[in-house]
Amino acid sequence: MIRCNKCDVEMLTASINTTYPVSLPVMLVNREKGLFATEHKSELLCYVCPECGHIELYAKDPQKLKEDSKKTL
Ligand SMILES: [Zn+2]
Repeated sequence: MIRCNKCDVEMLTASINTTYPVSLPVMLVNREKGLFATEHKSELLCYVCPECGHIELYAKDPQKLKEDSKKTL
């Protein structure tokens, strides 16, 4: 559970989607250098304060963004 650091109320979870042409979730992408580069992706977790509208973003799977995740997992 995450609390707004301004209002000290529990923040709601939300998703950040594109609206055009269709609704798609936004991804974090860490792209390796090189021609056949691997893209490491993670979904976003979004928390929004119902009082003031403050938004905090987190990577859902931050480990997936590491460039050596294939070797370690
Ligand atoms: Zn707030």
